[in-house]
Amino acid sequence: MIVCNTVDALQKQILIEKSKGKSIGFVPSMGALHLGHISLVNEAQKQCDIIVVSIFVNPTQFNNPDDLLKYPRTLEADIQMLDNSACSIIFAPSVDEIYPANLETINLDLGTLKNVMEDALRPGHFNGVVNVVYRLFDIVKPSKAFFGLKDFQQVAVIKYMTKHFNLAIEIVACPTIREITGLAMSSRNLRLSDKQKKDALIIIQTLRYSKELSKELTPMDVRLKARSFFNTSELTLEYIEIVDPLTLVSLDENWVEGATMCIAAFCGEVRLIDNLQLF
Ligand code: AMP
Repeated sequence: MIVCNTVDALQKQILIEKSKGKSIGFVPSMGALHLGHISLVNEAQKQCDIIVVSIFVNPTQFNNPDDLLKYPRTLEADIQMLDNSACSIIFAPSVDEIYPANLETINLDLGTLKNVMEDALRPGHFNGVVNVVYRLFDIVKPSKAFFGLKDFQQVAVIKYMTKHFNLAIEIVACPTIREITGLAMSSRNLRLSDKQKKDALIIIQTLRYSKELSKELTPMDVRLKARSFFNTSELTLEYIEIVDPLTLVSLDENWVEGATMCIAAFCGEVRLIDNLQLF
């Protein structure tokens, strides 16, 4: 496994592999790696020859400076974890490598994906995500890129961006990996106490309860019951939505194939998100 810190070094390696006819799979990450990230590497291994994992805490996607400051950074442990995985090349660039002074900023209108859920509560977040992923795609030029459905809206945004710019990259969405308890794995879990990890289980309990309810009730009624159930907990709810998986339009009366419940909540100071396909 090779670690590259500059665009030049990375592109030299990729060129060597491409000249041998190897396909490139790409897993973008912000580090503080866990088994959720490794599951993306494993999926990439099944579908591609060479796997590039980027580790870059992207400042432009944090709308809260304190959140950026407190984001866990564990590069040495990440490198070790990836060394024991199918990862071929780690790309761990500086902010200046990713955002050189002459780089043009993208302003993509996200259509129905904007002003809902994460975009409503974290203004500018997806603009930052679009810009960094577009830039990373342009550097790595993979044939496939792997994203976790844990970040449900992000997958929709990346698919939308790829289609909008007609990029020849297949976006592969991978299932959410959970702790045995049901808590979705997340780098942010490092900031939770043992008690908070227990409290946070209300999220998966609400999702599973809602899946049961969805067999008999409309999306609107499921959402109402889910909110009352959730609000018995220690967490502070930001939203519970049931959405169409492609447009993210909120569902009220009728179910559609792939209808998904998305939850965001604060557990203490830590903001958690999770989702489950209900229908
Ligand atoms: P992050 O480092 O948080 O930017 O995440 C990098 C990638 O890992 C994103 O595509 C996430 O959706 C994905 N990811 C994060 N947590 C999980 C998880 N528990 N299961 C599957 N994928 C995940």
